Amino acid sequence: MRKISHWIGGKPSNGSSERTSTVYDPATGQPQAEVLLATPGDVEDAVATAGAAFESWSQSSLSARTKIMFAFRQLVVERMDELAEVISAEHGKVVSDARGEVQRGLEVVEFACGLPSLLKGEYSDQASTGVDVFSFREPLGVVAGITPFNFPIMVPMWMHPVAIACGNTFILKPSERDPSVSQLIAELYAEAGLPDGVFNVVNGDKDAVDALLDSRGVAAVSFVGSTPIARYIHERGTAQGKRVQALGGAKNHAIVMPDANVDFASDHLVAAAFGSAGERCMAISAAVAVGGVADELLAAVAEKARAIQVGPGRDAASEMGPVITAAARDRIVSLIGSGEQQGADVTVDGRGLVVPGHEEGFFVGPTVLDQVTTDMDAYREEIFGPVLSVLRTSSVDDAIDMINSNPYGNGTAIFTSSGEHARRFQRGVNVGMIGINVPIPVPMAYYSFGGWKDSLFGDKHVHGPEGVSFYTRAKVVTSRWPHVEAPSGASYAFPNA
Ligand code: NAD
Repeated sequence: MRKISHWIGGKPSNGSSERTSTVYDPATGQPQAEVLLATPGDVEDAVATAGAAFESWSQSSLSARTKIMFAFRQLVVERMDELAEVISAEHGKVVSDARGEVQRGLEVVEFACGLPSLLKGEYSDQASTGVDVFSFREPLGVVAGITPFNFPIMVPMWMHPVAIACGNTFILKPSERDPSVSQLIAELYAEAGLPDGVFNVVNGDKDAVDALLDSRGVAAVSFVGSTPIARYIHERGTAQGKRVQALGGAKNHAIVMPDANVDFASDHLVAAAFGSAGERCMAISAAVAVGGVADELLAAVAEKARAIQVGPGRDAASEMGPVITAAARDRIVSLIGSGEQQGADVTVDGRGLVVPGHEEGFFVGPTVLDQVTTDMDAYREEIFGPVLSVLRTSSVDDAIDMINSNPYGNGTAIFTSSGEHARRFQRGVNVGMIGINVPIPVPMAYYSFGGWKDSLFGDKHVHGPEGVSFYTRAKVVTSRWPHVEAPSGASYAFPNA
């Protein structure tokens, strides 16, 4: 069985751990590799290595860092197909979607190539007589990223290019479900000329995460994953005095107004609900039909959901792959069942789907639940699978109230042809990322990505200007260069001229 190791100090490392976790091929349900699970001692080794590398990396010039980032970008472009295939083999998503994931990550690398323009400081000439004041930002030290299974390359790329371009050194603890692509990224950084120890990968589970949270050598932690773990990471990390940004789960609603184009809205709804088998933090899982549009919308969505080609991600004919594990499949199936028991209509039922030749694969077909209400478990839980719930309200204000009553606040969208409705929606919802006739409003890399409420713990969103702010801290210098012959003498009043 293939063994997946760590990457510490510019080379693969097996550390001292004897514990492993199985990596499956979700399309066949068969084990394909064992990933090593780091011990707290392995994590401390990585922290020490990254700490030593910080001494010189933080002193490297902006142009030296930029050159490496450009070289890394070029390698990611050249190896995009290979990266996408590695993702698909362990995650299960279709290869074209995996390529899209690499592309969105690449955009953050490109943002990091231009980072010197965001690290420019401020300068006040003659703030007081003979006194100038200026500010600049410095890196924090060793920073860690702890990431989920659903975007094994893109989510880490929200973090490490920005952190590294700012002058930090980085330890990635990727998901133990699909860890291989992180090794490949480490190799590409090395090939791009990144000094050893600046980018490290530690594979592991809770033991490794807790060691990172407790380590005195780690200055900041970026986390993306489910809400209970995000809350835990934020509490434990900040209790240790670290800077923490912890992005959590989601329940993303799309409002469809009676004035929307139903064909357009239903196309985008099925893509947003069932793309990547619904395993996206920005997937639309609740469609809120306003007024008389519900029946027409449901018919259109159901027809398109039934037409989706489900199969192995590596098969070019597949439009949707399996979910990540057998446990995830069973949980999704059980939440569909609970929706049915609690009164929802299962208009399209993906339970029991069998893909010929892949009978053991972790497949669930696209599922549409109608007549869902906000007290049902299928609505209250983040299902994180290919299930779209349809809810009904009588006005845009009721729909906005529904969204604001939900504990999550990651993304949301409205389909409408009315500027008035769109504007009322964008101003009224307590959600971080908003789409107007755009179902998955993921901000471009030069904006910042993040939700509100239980979808993010901490103050800063990832990448864009807030990412730069998260990975740096400000220094303000007040400076005076007096003439040697200038009169000296103590003044006990606060200077004011
Ligand atoms: P997860 O919370 O199970 O795991 C995320 C990371 O935390 C992994 O690296 C995992 O090893 C680690 N972890 C798991 N249990 C832990 C524990 N008890 N203590 C310490 N560390 C632990 O999430 P997942 O299943 O990998 O990913 C899916 C979740 O991520 C969904 O809830 C999804 O909404 C969320 N997500 C959110 C965003 C966002 O931007 N807000 C983006 C992607 C995914």
